[in-house]
Amino acid sequence: MPKLETRMARDITWIGSIPKECDICGIAIANAFVDDMTREGPWANMCPDCHRLHGCGLGLGVGQRYEKKPDGKFHKTEGWPPTGNASI
Ligand SMILES: [Zn+2]
Repeated sequence: MPKLETRMARDITWIGSIPKECDICGIAIANAFVDDMTREGPWANMCPDCHRLHGCGLGLGVGQRYEKKPDGKFHKTEGWPPTGNASI
């Protein structure tokens, strides 16, 4: 029960313009992107592949993964604080 409520409370959608392409490789963002700091320093909106290569991880203070849902909006799916399902 509490788990479901937590998930609902954590339904965050990306506000603002959706990145059209990956800041690193330039591929068109289709269904998912990660907003994270690169290992080189600057922040970037990355495709999942570039995030694996250049990202600093997912979680509080680092990467936030957003995925496009049927409503057409990008919902945050990973990158919650440590108490959640953050990885790395
Ligand atoms: Zn990329």
